[in-house]
Amino acid sequence: MEEEKLQCGECGFLSDTVCKAEEHAEDYCHTNFFLSEQAVIDQHCCSCTTYCNSQMALELHRKRSGHTEYEETEAKLRREKAEEDRRIEEWVARVQEELKNSMEKVNISFIYASLASGASRLSRQRLLHKQSQMRSCLDVMKQSLKFVDQEQAALNTLVTIVKNVAEQPAEEKFRKIRISKIEERLCFVEAGFKFLKLCKFEIEEGGEFLFLPHFEVEEELLKAANDELKRALSSMEE
Ligand SMILES: [Zn+2]
Ligand SMILES: [Zn+2]
Repeated sequence: MEEEKLQCGECGFLSDTVCKAEEHAEDYCHTNFFLSEQAVIDQHCCSCTTYCNSQMALELHRKRSGHTEYEETEAKLRREKAEEDRRIEEWVARVQEELKNSMEKVNISFIYASLASGASRLSRQRLLHKQSQMRSCLDVMKQSLKFVDQEQAALNTLVTIVKNVAEQPAEEKFRKIRISKIEERLCFVEAGFKFLKLCKFEIEEGGEFLFLPHFEVEEELLKAANDELKRALSSMEE
């Protein structure tokens, strides 16, 4: 035998005290209460979480909303906790994935940076080596020539060749030089040709031409050549 309670005639809500009934009336504007002996139940609508504390409340909600599934408070809390745990797990997995991806990006850019710096160190060393070879060539040239004006003419010839290619690398006539046209100005000194070979000129077509392919033109190498020629010229003036 259940204790007598107040039940809302509009939604079936059960109140065991007048106070609770008054509160319900105020909250929902439900004023039609009657005395009831219905048992208190503990059911939440799974679809909209509406709480039903009597069978009448549940039936009314089912009829009005069409919501068919209900669960007890404890089951509801357990389910909500499980859902929350799953959301947290998903979030953690997503964060781990993001971190993993960004670590990979960091590592790859780190590797690229290391490679680039290694490559530039190597090319710097190679350039310095070539430049010192150029310097020796010019020293040898100086020693082979008896007269200052010969040396000056030879150096100026090299300056013009290097300058022309550096300024207009696309122009083939500056990269393809008939050897017979320059050998006299280079005083037939082997070191002069060796200097041009260090600038990547090659002897072509039966030894008739010096040729520097366009793709082989190296701005930095030509700049180093020019520096060495300038140095040799200025040392003559001293
Ligand atoms: Zn009510
Ligand atoms: Zn519902």
